[in-house]
Amino acid sequence: MNFEERFSLAGRLALVTGASRGIGRALATGLAEAGADIVAVSRSVDSLKDVCDDVEALGRRCQIIACDVSDVAAVHRLFEQISEQGLLADILVNNAGIEDVAPSTQVDEALWDRIIDTNLKGAFFVAQNFAKPLMAAGRAGSLINLGSLTSAVGVPTATPYTSSKSGLLGMTRALSAEWARDNIRVNAMGPGYFRTELTEAFYEDEDWQARMLDKIPMGRFGQLDDLIGMAVFLASNASAYVTGQILYVDGGYLASI
Ligand code: NDP
Repeated sequence: MNFEERFSLAGRLALVTGASRGIGRALATGLAEAGADIVAVSRSVDSLKDVCDDVEALGRRCQIIACDVSDVAAVHRLFEQISEQGLLADILVNNAGIEDVAPSTQVDEALWDRIIDTNLKGAFFVAQNFAKPLMAAGRAGSLINLGSLTSAVGVPTATPYTSSKSGLLGMTRALSAEWARDNIRVNAMGPGYFRTELTEAFYEDEDWQARMLDKIPMGRFGQLDDLIGMAVFLASNASAYVTGQILYVDGGYLASI
């Protein structure tokens, strides 16, 4: 295998959930840069137009489909729509996610369900619907779940989110073992601290920023560009013998706490 065959995603179709902004948008564009066509998914069609413009400017095809991943019936419809067009996604970036914080004594059922239904249940059913047609066609695939530092450590007042991301790591391991013989690899990437709409509220607190920077050995927050190489690696032939792993992109944070 030469360098091009190792890392090129030409001829591949990547479905990216939560592609409208933040990490998902960066990863959709990064995978397109490596040659993949993209199916961009989030809850609203309008919010996905910009990412598709970016993908098309790179000479790749981009299709927009609205889907709330916490709605299992909607996830089925999403994959039906893809297959009705004769398309088969062979890369999945399970990125759609939400976060909310509250003291654990005040977490109610609605908050718990909202986070788990999107981050964990949604990710599972997207993965299931992604794998089925690949197995039926005898095709290989690569699935990348978006974990978090909270896949590895507990964060006070973020119990539902931490539970969802730790659960996602368990899901990554179980699916990787179950689907390895079908040539469907299942890995996760764990971003450290990245400033996006999801995390913006934390960054507005300058004391918080200073405390965090102190804990990150590289002395800076992550830039979205820092995540692209890992996603391309996990999606491509370069990681052909890697499955069931979580790879952190965190400036050294977890190694040092
Ligand atoms: P953003 O809030 O910036 O983006 C979240 C994306 O998910 C949006 O495109 C949003 O689109 C979509 N989304 C949310 N809920 C749903 C849903 N129910 N169905 C479909 N799409 C949905 O977050 P980030 O980019 O920061 O985070 C992306 C992922 O990375 C998340 O899983 C997050 O947990 C993880 N992560 C982020 C870190 C960070 O520092 N930012 C650190 C570690 C992990 P729309 O609202 O249009 O539906």
